Amino acid sequence: MVSPTSMKAAAITGYGGRENLVTLDLPAPTPGAGEVLVRVAYAALNRADVFIRQGLTGPGVRQPRALPHVLGVDGAGVVVELGEGVAGVNVGDRVAVFPALSCGYCRHCRRGEQSRCSDYGLLGEDEWGLQRELIALPAASVLKIPDNVSLADAAAVPGAYTTAWTMLVTKGRLRAGERMLVVGASGGVSVAAMQIAAYSGAEVWATTRTAEKAERLTALPFVHRVFVTPGPGWSEEIRHATGGEGVDVVVDAVGAPTWRDSIESLAQGGRMLICGATGGDRPDISIREIYQKNRQIIGGPFGGWNDFREVYDFLASSGVRPVIDRILPLDQVGEAHRVLEEQEHIGKLLLRCAQTEDLIDEPTTTHAPHPHLEMT
Ligand SMILES: [Zn+2]
Repeated sequence: MVSPTSMKAAAITGYGGRENLVTLDLPAPTPGAGEVLVRVAYAALNRADVFIRQGLTGPGVRQPRALPHVLGVDGAGVVVELGEGVAGVNVGDRVAVFPALSCGYCRHCRRGEQSRCSDYGLLGEDEWGLQRELIALPAASVLKIPDNVSLADAAAVPGAYTTAWTMLVTKGRLRAGERMLVVGASGGVSVAAMQIAAYSGAEVWATTRTAEKAERLTALPFVHRVFVTPGPGWSEEIRHATGGEGVDVVVDAVGAPTWRDSIESLAQGGRMLICGATGGDRPDISIREIYQKNRQIIGGPFGGWNDFREVYDFLASSGVRPVIDRILPLDQVGEAHRVLEEQEHIGKLLLRCAQTEDLIDEPTTTHAPHPHLEMT
């Protein structure tokens, strides 16, 4: 096979509005020693894409060093070339990309807990990401996808589903029979958390700001009850709905606007699980609300290799599939950002990166504007 010399990539050429998003022709990467070259079939978007484009910085969202910058934390594709000395991966393997960057040597990395490494970063944030046709990366960063999982489904998993898995299963120790409330429940991580929790036997409640979103969430088989919460003060309704007791677990990825109600919705000893702060990171709360009621706040960005691998095993054995809101061609990355910014979506937004038909591998029923869903 003749190696490709160029590739299409979605990139930002400046910081600010959506006019900074372009599709570029860039030189194709070549795999170095220990690396594999992957043809990316699909890449997914995350809210972090919007924050990076807007030039926001802070822990977890560092400014990329140079422009243009290729976005994209999530992706899946097919291995097309091996660098020197690669074993255990073959040309033709269908793979998902583990997006964490880390030192590889510290005790956290050795335990498969990469997001605890002091050098932790993510593809798409700290280095060029996956919204492109080709990527060369260490063979140790790819995971073979189970045969019964499509490339599109596999691409929707890394950021959202690994993060949700880490929060709920690895750290949050969610148990069957517990009642879990997801705040602002339409983004990728929130939807992933609800699916995993419902499958695990938890009762899943959700809040959302509009009646229209509530209707769409109610239609999802893994959401048991939806509350429309246009403004603050909704914890009263949650407490009332639980006979004054509160819920066992709250998942809040919104941050400042919802933290107070989230904490006040928790039962004695309840756990709040956090992985993001899309609405701001400086909540106005009383810490007495935490210690006086034996509550816990458990945080973590993303997860490690072990969590990542377990999520694909979970999909393969459970039949649960990611909720994909819609799949757009790579050159419509601007439209994808619009949908994210206007919060029109439920679940994941994907870009079809492959420019040829041979890598199209997506669920047969589609979606927009309603989510695709496959639960068995
Ligand atoms: Zn490390």
